Amino acid sequence: MSRIWNFSAGPAALPQVVLERAQRELLNWNGSGASVMELSHRGKLFMELAARAENDVRELADIPADYAVLFLQGGATQHFAQLPMNLASQGDSADYIVTGHWGEKAASEAAPYVNVHVAAHSRDTGYMQLPPRASWALDPRAAYVHYTPNETIHGVEFHEVPDVGQVPLVADMSSDIFSRPIDVRRFGVIYAGAQKNIGPSGLVVMIVRRDLLERASRPMAKIFRYADHAANDSMLNTPNTWGWYLAGLTFEWMKEQGGLAAIAARNDAKAAKLYRAIDSSNGYYRNPVALDARSRMNVPFTLHDDKLDALFLQESEAAGLLALKGHKAVGGMRASLYNAVPVEAVEALVAFMQDFAARHG
Ligand code: PMP
Repeated sequence: MSRIWNFSAGPAALPQVVLERAQRELLNWNGSGASVMELSHRGKLFMELAARAENDVRELADIPADYAVLFLQGGATQHFAQLPMNLASQGDSADYIVTGHWGEKAASEAAPYVNVHVAAHSRDTGYMQLPPRASWALDPRAAYVHYTPNETIHGVEFHEVPDVGQVPLVADMSSDIFSRPIDVRRFGVIYAGAQKNIGPSGLVVMIVRRDLLERASRPMAKIFRYADHAANDSMLNTPNTWGWYLAGLTFEWMKEQGGLAAIAARNDAKAAKLYRAIDSSNGYYRNPVALDARSRMNVPFTLHDDKLDALFLQESEAAGLLALKGHKAVGGMRASLYNAVPVEAVEALVAFMQDFAARHG
């Protein structure tokens, strides 16, 4: 069986060399005679793996020593709720910048734990634009400012880190982490579900400024408190060892690719190719997002006649192009171009789109 070109929004494509290595090592990892999944997280071999993965990601993203790196569970969604539990005290408010579905979700899940103040949103544009920074009603006393640098469903992305002054900036980077260099010092917390640019689902990577760990003041179980996870090197309970292992292999792969600057250049080129094909199709294909907010990771597009959608999906799948169906909130198609999607996949998609348009004009 041959591999397809995978444009899934998540869980998404992983680097083929990472999968091949995991396959080779599956039955006998590191000379242990067992799979990495079958070994204690407290054993020497796994502890070494865990430390190496953390060191690699620190090097890759240039993470300063005063930031902790946590390997957690629960998906980004659990942390929508857990972040305010840890970062805000009873009665505090937090500013939310809502630029799509996931920002909405982050705000609504936080509401039981903090007074959510939506300081800016772009709902009235159907989330096709970003609210201009000058229009944000930020509160300097807010516990933090939360935003979503890349909205996976709407295909809307911030191309710069917004300046929010002294208030800690919290970013849900689930769908664009490690797709470009990150200036970690601009953030209080960066967190991401792993299943797009890092590894399998079931793992969350969090980069958190250590002083913020001391904030948690309300009564809560240890398992919810990030400070306890940090104090226990993310082994407060049994971590997702398989996810941590694959994340480690992916960090190694990203380093071999030349690091985040080289990965960003490839991602820019991939996205440019696809947007060019859409924009030069004389309206056959359309991407509705404002030019300065177009995502490099998730590219939604519609066909000029939605009666062709089903045929497009059927033929694209037959041509070896998987998971192009758009999210139901937006309709049409969506191609996700995460780090592990090679330029050849984008070239195959563009060639298919041009051929389809020629045959079904
Ligand atoms: N935030 C963003 C930006 C996402 O794309 C997703 C999932 N697609 C989530 C949060 C939710 O992640 P999870 O399913 O891991 O909770």
